[in-house]
Amino acid sequence: MAMKSYNPYEIAQAQFDRIADLLKLDQAARDLLRVPTREYHFTIPVHMDDGSVQVFQGFRVQHNDARGPGKGGIRFHPLETIDTVRALAMWMTWKCAVVDVPLGGSKGGVVCDPHNLSARETEQLCRGWVRQISRDVGPHLDVPAPDIMTNPQNMLWMLDEYEAIHGGKYPGFITGKPLSVGGSQGRKEATGYGVVFTIREALKELNREPRNTTASIQGFGNVAQHAIQLYERIGGTVVCVSSWNQADQTAYSFRKASGIRYEELLAATDAFGGIDVAKARDLGYEILPGDAWLEQDVEILIPAALENQITQENAARIHPRAIVLAEGANGPTSPEADTILSERNIFILPDFLANAGGVTCSYFEQVQSNMNYYWDKDEVLGKLDTKMTAAFHAVSDLARNQKLPMRDAAYVISVSRVAQACRDRGWV
Ligand code: NAD
Repeated sequence: MAMKSYNPYEIAQAQFDRIADLLKLDQAARDLLRVPTREYHFTIPVHMDDGSVQVFQGFRVQHNDARGPGKGGIRFHPLETIDTVRALAMWMTWKCAVVDVPLGGSKGGVVCDPHNLSARETEQLCRGWVRQISRDVGPHLDVPAPDIMTNPQNMLWMLDEYEAIHGGKYPGFITGKPLSVGGSQGRKEATGYGVVFTIREALKELNREPRNTTASIQGFGNVAQHAIQLYERIGGTVVCVSSWNQADQTAYSFRKASGIRYEELLAATDAFGGIDVAKARDLGYEILPGDAWLEQDVEILIPAALENQITQENAARIHPRAIVLAEGANGPTSPEADTILSERNIFILPDFLANAGGVTCSYFEQVQSNMNYYWDKDEVLGKLDTKMTAAFHAVSDLARNQKLPMRDAAYVISVSRVAQACRDRGWV
């Protein structure tokens, strides 16, 4: 079925419907899983620094909790909509299920622009969000985390408010906390490393050595930076990265044919992952248009910036030598481009598998916080590798045996696991 709409919720539902057909899911399971179980819409009044009161719109959507407490981030974004939150909550259900962690899917949001809020106003907004929802979230119910434009400090304010309301210490209420107060070692590396664990396994299946491969990456933020570090450690060479330049509101690609030098590029990068164009030029990088990362002569492409970046219009520009597309970002490939890449036999590591390292480590944080006992970094990253590798093989075995694209195989595993949990509980 051709999907014309770019409403993420409609896309999420269309993806689900296709897999439900493939699995011949019964009507009750379909009716249950194609919509959220619960959603909360609420207002959050904040006393602003100028004396006025501004009322913000907040959401929490709990898509499904048959496999365990809900899990999912909170976005602060001026363009946040309930449909974005619904889609992301649904994708969280599938993401937790594909890596087989005992959690369901949720997502939260507030319509706001944090750039225009002072630290005090942001704190009030964080505390206000928790006040509105505190009875319906919790360590064994629904566990929030950071997402776009929310950070560890925001999580700590939220935790503090939750504990004040409930009168106790509940560090497992929220993840993405600062390391000093209940955060997990390895959380900041987890998503990027997870992407590379799946690339490493894909290359084994393709009989290729990482050290004989090169990669090009969109983005130079949290996911991309840690993916680069681990990919280089297993022997690969990154020849091109791209980033957004806030000053002229343009994206640029930065290429060094002999391989980028991560540390020198990091020194020329701001806190938001924007690389300084003049400094990069001085360091000997070729400065190319923002989308040039896509057409590099490399084996591996890693979109790790935004959604909807590889489309029907530009998919043909991908170099014939490309063999793996590892989706670090959520939803970087449009459904039409997906078909084009599958026809070209590119090994696609779908987003909710490839970038599941983040939520897997958040699960580890929740477990550690509930125990109030914390593991060292090697232990966390070792457990992460085990989980991601097992998830990869479950998906790739199914893809091979049933001749399914990797994305469909990942969906089949997730939807089957969630539907089974619903049946086992006697819900459907
Ligand atoms: P980030 O904000 O740290 O970095 C984003 C990077 O993308 C920056 O380098 C920015 O300059 C670059 N960028 C923005 N617009 C661009 C453009 N048009 N062209 C090229 N580069 C551009 O974000 P992040 O945490 O690294 O997340 C990146 C993606 O991964 C997002 O889709 C996010 O939803 C997804 N993701 C992140 C995590 C996580 O744990 N951080 C987990 C799962 C999925």
